Amino acid sequence: MQVDFLIVGQGLAGSLLAKALLRRGRTVHVVDDRWKSSSSQVAAGLMTPLTGRRFTLTKDYPELFASAKARLTELGVFRSIQVYRMFVDEEQRGKGLKRTECKSCQPFIAQVTSEQGELDAGLTDAFGGALMNGAWVDLPKLMSDVRAELVAAGSLTEASFDPPDAVTNAEGVTWREFRAGAIVYCDGYKSAQRGPFKYLPWQPAKGEALTLRSDVADRPFILNREGWALPLGNGVWRTGTNWQWDQLDETTNEAQKEKLIGRFRGYFAEDVEVEVASHVAGVRPCTSDNHPFMGAHPNQPRTYLFSGLGPRGTVWAPAMADEMAAYLCEGNALRKECDLARFSAA
Ligand SMILES: Cc1cc2nc3c(=O)[nH]c(=O)nc-3n(C[C@H](O)[C@H](O)[C@H](O)COP(=O)(O)OP(=O)(O)OC[C@H]3O[C@@H](n4cnc5c(N)ncnc54)[C@H](O)[C@@H]3O)c2cc1C
Repeated sequence: MQVDFLIVGQGLAGSLLAKALLRRGRTVHVVDDRWKSSSSQVAAGLMTPLTGRRFTLTKDYPELFASAKARLTELGVFRSIQVYRMFVDEEQRGKGLKRTECKSCQPFIAQVTSEQGELDAGLTDAFGGALMNGAWVDLPKLMSDVRAELVAAGSLTEASFDPPDAVTNAEGVTWREFRAGAIVYCDGYKSAQRGPFKYLPWQPAKGEALTLRSDVADRPFILNREGWALPLGNGVWRTGTNWQWDQLDETTNEAQKEKLIGRFRGYFAEDVEVEVASHVAGVRPCTSDNHPFMGAHPNQPRTYLFSGLGPRGTVWAPAMADEMAAYLCEGNALRKECDLARFSAA
């Protein structure tokens, strides 16, 4: 079978790139091992405008957020919701108040509270907090919708792909019965461990998350302090997460589960009952400079990468999938800070 592009991996990156190429009238075939190492299946899919201890808005966030909102709304998986960032101390509160003066931050900050209980009497927000205009993306729905579309078109093979099995030369790529014009790796952190793009400065980071049932009242916003808790309705919450740079796999840890439960309980002033419905782990495809890795392999013909989405895949992926498709199909330049040519293969 002949196609334009063979895509390895059907996470957020592979799904949105496949859609972007199909929109351009190109043919694709996707190989995925049924989300065996999928970060996208573990992520809560939150889009939080101001992040980190310093509570900052990154320069590119407004543009990326606008693209993501448009594209993900079209796909029926974008959910607007506010995020209540509870400050950990006076210093952080000071930073929060300062951000309200910054013009580019203003559209993303709805309110800064100054004392405990001002927004919600049931929270332990001793230093107040900032209510931000954020969103979450229904990633499981996005991936199952795209998978169903690919399966219906006969464009998905469920298999574990091994890079040496693909033969590449100047004319194209051959893998099993498929002949493609090019191969694009969208296999998340696995490209950090083997294959042609292992040489890049990856910094994969493992994280765990829980789905809980709780008797605490649902909130109309996401709770955020150190980690986060996303209310899914009817007493169901997603909560996470942590950062771990070793033991990069999908195994969960009991001690981590207890930490996440403790943190969730700590958001509320009352005693809260919880029952764990699921506990999952995944590895974020993070990079040394917090920017995606996109572009062509320096030596191997017809071999491309679209990955390195890090902890903010939902923010980066929609705009970057379109940019990657325009690069592959029309030869448009990639933005320099995301083009993997910024690192040498030496
Ligand atoms: C705990 C946690 C919480 C997170 N929270 C958020 C959040 O709130 N907001 C946010 O924006 N981002 C979040 N992220 C990050 C987000 O998950 C990633 O940025 C994004 O999902 C990466 O997508 P991807 O398609 O590049 O990789 P993946 O989702 O990992 O997809 C790669 C796919 O390739 C497949 N694959 C790999 N190797 C092979 C092979 N050899 N053969 C066949 N198939 C293969 C995998 O099984 C998988 O299906 C979180 C991540 C974690 C771990």
